[in-house]
Amino acid sequence: MEKIWVGKIIARAGTRCSGRGGIIHDEAEKNSTRKETDGFFKTSIPDVYAVGDVATFPLKLYNEIRRVEHVDHARKSAEQAVKAIFASEQGTSIDEYDYLPYFYSRAFDLSWQFYGDNVGETVLFGDSSPTSATHKFGSYWIKDGKVIGAFLESGTPEENKAIAKVARVQPQVDSLDQLATEGLSFATKI
Ligand SMILES: Cc1cc2nc3c(=O)[nH]c(=O)nc-3n(C[C@H](O)[C@H](O)[C@H](O)COP(=O)(O)OP(=O)(O)OC[C@H]3O[C@@H](n4cnc5c(N)ncnc54)[C@H](O)[C@@H]3O)c2cc1C
Repeated sequence: MEKIWVGKIIARAGTRCSGRGGIIHDEAEKNSTRKETDGFFKTSIPDVYAVGDVATFPLKLYNEIRRVEHVDHARKSAEQAVKAIFASEQGTSIDEYDYLPYFYSRAFDLSWQFYGDNVGETVLFGDSSPTSATHKFGSYWIKDGKVIGAFLESGTPEENKAIAKVARVQPQVDSLDQLATEGLSFATKI
């Protein structure tokens, strides 16, 4: 493997943005390329469904209309639409889409996962030193006293499952200092 020495690296990882170009948009965009759907990815046009990046849908967990541009949602929204179509053909129904935002990226020996929403205060934990042997570090996002987002670099499958659970359960935190000290163990005990 060839080593390339660089002076600076700018990494842009974000799940929410007030303007265009972010991964999640918190407002319904109704121009020609954005399709607003219901929780079954049905558009206002009969028999037309929109899934993946193009769909603006009700994100039940946050009671908001959002768009999520990531492959996990692209797959799951397609699955939801197909199940909804099949159910309506059978004269039955399915539950509304209840998605926990999930993003990941892998590059070289680095691999991170993020679940939930990145709003509110942040609490960094672990060893984020560039010389760290494990690269294991993360961050929680806390809003209204609850953990609503969690990021983890170099987590094991079990640890990644634990941060996903935290983002879904949204546990209350009394002290941010205590949360920073507990770090990943806060998630693994939920
Ligand atoms: C640079 C980059 C890096 C990314 N990295 C990641 C990552 O690491 N992990 C991750 O999960 N996601 C990543 N994503 C996001 C991910 O690729 C998308 O969320 C996902 O591909 C969305 O799937 P989709 O099916 O909704 O749309 P797309 O994959 O964009 O598929 C839409 C398809 O429709 C076709 N199309 C468009 N218009 C028409 C038309 N008029 N007629 C016929 N066909 C048409 C397009 O050619 C395309 O093939 C990345 C995206 C980019 C741009």
